[in-house]
Amino acid sequence: LSDRLSSVFDRLTKQGALSADDVKTAMREVRVALLEADVSLPVVRDFVKAVEAKATGQAVTKSITPGQQVIKIVHDELQHVLTGDEDPGKLKIDNPPAPILMVGLQGSGKTTTTAKLAKRLKDREGKKVLMASLDTNRPAAMEQLAILGTQIGVDTLPIVKGETPVQIAKRAKTQASLGGYDVFMLDTAGRLHIDAELIAQAAEVRDVANPRETLLVVDGLTGQDAVNVAQEFDDKIGVTGVVLTRMDGDGRGGAALSMRAITGKPIRFVGLGEKMDAIETFEPQRIAGRILGMGDIVALVEKAQETLEAEQAERMMKRFQKGRFNMNDLKMQLDQMLKMGGMEGMMGMMPGMNKMKGQMDKAGIDDSILRRQIALINSMTKAERANPDLLAASRKKRIAKGAGLEVSELNKLVKQHRQMADMMKKMGKGGMLKQAMKQMM
Ligand code: GDP
Ligand code: MG
Repeated sequence: LSDRLSSVFDRLTKQGALSADDVKTAMREVRVALLEADVSLPVVRDFVKAVEAKATGQAVTKSITPGQQVIKIVHDELQHVLTGDEDPGKLKIDNPPAPILMVGLQGSGKTTTTAKLAKRLKDREGKKVLMASLDTNRPAAMEQLAILGTQIGVDTLPIVKGETPVQIAKRAKTQASLGGYDVFMLDTAGRLHIDAELIAQAAEVRDVANPRETLLVVDGLTGQDAVNVAQEFDDKIGVTGVVLTRMDGDGRGGAALSMRAITGKPIRFVGLGEKMDAIETFEPQRIAGRILGMGDIVALVEKAQETLEAEQAERMMKRFQKGRFNMNDLKMQLDQMLKMGGMEGMMGMMPGMNKMKGQMDKAGIDDSILRRQIALINSMTKAERANPDLLAASRKKRIAKGAGLEVSELNKLVKQHRQMADMMKKMGKGGMLKQAMKQMM
């Protein structure tokens, strides 16, 4: 898939702006990528439409190719759709004891996630947490939570045989208040499929506990189904966020996009393994790359850019070594300097330049000089730029006038150029140039 995408984007590298056809061609592949990542069809349709509308006619930023531009637009849009809360990892747990209700299908990872989050709250925020299992269907499930609690050093509500989930929830609430807990987490029972009884039970528990957060735990490896499940849970119980588990597997996580787009519920956490620390706050850009499977391409593009720059530098260096350092080269350097944060930024980057910076400050040299120098070079003809020796007095007058500056300033530039060219030549011979350039890259 990556290959297919990159070949499409390769073809796009030749043109200068994003035409409707360019975008359509690229988006056909993006569409396939999304479907392969298990994003549901209506979501894919909307997404593709949104990107096409944004991309078509967009001017291609200088120095990046149209293909790269499309990748960026796709990425940005994906990220935009996936972004929910500003701070997805921040659970609302003021007013202790704050109830957190965990819901989801059986095997989705509710019990594991309950313990992971409890540990997180304890370790990171110093919260006192109580966990209670409401899974009366499977006694082993209650044991499972108790064992995890011991393992992570978080209290669990003592198991009392014969209680209903609602009774357990009530007891947890009381116990949390009496015991001075900051948070109590209710790990509910799941079913293999969503059914009326499961929903009714969860709703009853919700009414008793009045949770601050209701987190829906969803297996990230399930595709389409996850969306229906999320929709149903949200309609009937109301969820405040989604936890996507098993993202350590090879699933592409397309469910995340569908769920976000259809239910509008933010994804808050991502489960990344069975261990108690294997949970992270949701990061849209990471999942975006994963869904598209274009992480490789993005890296490739970046690498290509680096290589290109390195090649350019290499070519420039060869010229310098031969003493060919003309006004075009100087202009390129001046442009580069401005881009890198001007004089100040440049000097800060180069070792041993602090002293020189002090002198420059004293002499009143700043970025406006860079800009004036660029203006002077712009005012030269092609021939003059390539061969500064041509710069006789009459030409100098014309150039200075063209740039709206004094000839004295142009003279300074010419002198500076000469000095730099000499220095380049010397450095080139000693191999110092290569080192200097490397440090600047
Ligand atoms: P529950 O039925 O919803 O409570 O699911 P469990 O918490 O019992 O989890 C079911 C299985 O999935 C267990 O073996 C967990 O260790 C495993 N599991 C849960 N979350 C993750 C995850 O993020 N990655 C992986 N690889 N396994 C997980
Ligand atoms: Mg469980």
